[in-house]
Amino acid sequence: MENLSVEIINQLSDNYSYLLFNNNSSSSIIVDPAEANSIINILKKKNLNLDYIFITHHHSDHTSGVVNLVKEYPEVKIFSPSELYSLKINKISDGDLLSTSLNEFKILSTPGHTLDHIVLCDYNNNFLFCGDVLFRLGCGRIFEGTFEQMQNSLQKLFRLPDKMIVFCGHEYTKNNLNFLEFIFKNNLILEKTKNKILKDLISNGRSIPFNLGEEKKCNPFLNQECEMGSEFKKRKKYSNTEFFRYLRERKDNF
Ligand SMILES: [Zn+2]
Repeated sequence: MENLSVEIINQLSDNYSYLLFNNNSSSSIIVDPAEANSIINILKKKNLNLDYIFITHHHSDHTSGVVNLVKEYPEVKIFSPSELYSLKINKISDGDLLSTSLNEFKILSTPGHTLDHIVLCDYNNNFLFCGDVLFRLGCGRIFEGTFEQMQNSLQKLFRLPDKMIVFCGHEYTKNNLNFLEFIFKNNLILEKTKNKILKDLISNGRSIPFNLGEEKKCNPFLNQECEMGSEFKKRKKYSNTEFFRYLRERKDNF
């Protein structure tokens, strides 16, 4: 299959939707559409038809564009882990392997932020669309699940190949960076990571996408064993579970 391209579309104040397409076909896939108009404009400009909508979880900032997209593209197939505005959907759940005309997605269930949350893995293209589970230097808030569920979901992502390229649901990186600097003061690894992120932000206004292998080394929400927090964790005598809970609770009030 032809290599997939991903167009990153800014939505609302800090959301991202993702448009997937290739140069040999008029088909396309959209992940987590919040605003239909900007997406329709891009589709028209690229002469693409919208064939598939994929949803990572039920929050409206990831789904509110769906109804108007369906009006414009009535044949579009919707894949979602839960019901959606009384529309006809194809329900997706853990372990599903879905073939589109452009690629193949493996579905992993990742509860915590919401109970229905799933992520989309495209192993052939090394793409991971992870909604609000993992952010660069952070993770999603726990709204519906437990700390344990969220930590397990992040561990699932930790076990994915290093070469995966991560597309997450929000641009929260700057705030996540400020939080880690506040917790781990004068940390050399964090300082190095900061330089890389600032470079990304300056060159294209985004810190997305990012490499999963790199993230495993510097995101203590994704990896409680990463070097950045090791001294802090030892000093506080925290287990991995305690460390994750501490970070998530502090971040909630940051
Ligand atoms: Zn959400």
